[in-house]
Amino acid sequence: MEKTSDKMDRVGIMGGTFDPIHYGHLVAAETARIEFSLDKVLFIPTGNPPHKQEHKVTPAELRFEMVRQAINDNVDFAISRVEIDRDGPSYTIDTLKLLHREYPGQELFFITGTDALKEIFFWREAEEILRLTYFIAASRPGFEARGFLEQAVKEHPQVEGRIHSLEVPALAISSTDIRARLQRGQSIRYLLPETVRLFIRSQGLYKG
Ligand code: ATP
Ligand code: MG
Repeated sequence: MEKTSDKMDRVGIMGGTFDPIHYGHLVAAETARIEFSLDKVLFIPTGNPPHKQEHKVTPAELRFEMVRQAINDNVDFAISRVEIDRDGPSYTIDTLKLLHREYPGQELFFITGTDALKEIFFWREAEEILRLTYFIAASRPGFEARGFLEQAVKEHPQVEGRIHSLEVPALAISSTDIRARLQRGQSIRYLLPETVRLFIRSQGLYKG
């Protein structure tokens, strides 16, 4: 269908540490793009993540490069440096405000797994975040969200209609598991794009 000029662009936002990016992220983004008729999905690797102090996070430029290589073959995927280029911790609210200023005509859809969804109410300026963006909650094995949305709407009525759930092909893949496998010297083949696997190997990342 031809796009009319008055239709707002629908932009998916896939935020994450991506340490490293894997097929779980990519399938969630692609499924959201199709199911919600998004014009594109913008991957935004975190700069200095405020929540992830439990392990040493890989330098932002290397995580950025892995995402860039992983999405390279999809014309509907793009990558943004907004969080990487900002000093200090990355807060989603700052990123959303910036995107709103830069692209006032866009409707934003923040894509998260069900694990991350449960945390959004604790994010800085959660109410404002929910005003600026819709949420797409992608199913993630091990993090069932059944009943969570209903409960959330009861407790926070302003959430009504702002969070949509999305069933994606279940991939029980996590960056934590990939890092652990590499530390144990195990294979990570078929868990993430081959280009990313080769990049990790060439840079000697996540070694035990
Ligand atoms: P870590 O284990 O280091 O936390 P991760 O695999 O959870 O890494 P993140 O970068 O933390 O990856 O996640 C970015 C976003 O992608 C989050 O919203 C997360 O819920 C979602 N996500 C990650 N893996 C999956 C998956 N397998 N299926 C669906 N969503 C996922
Ligand atoms: Mg995570």
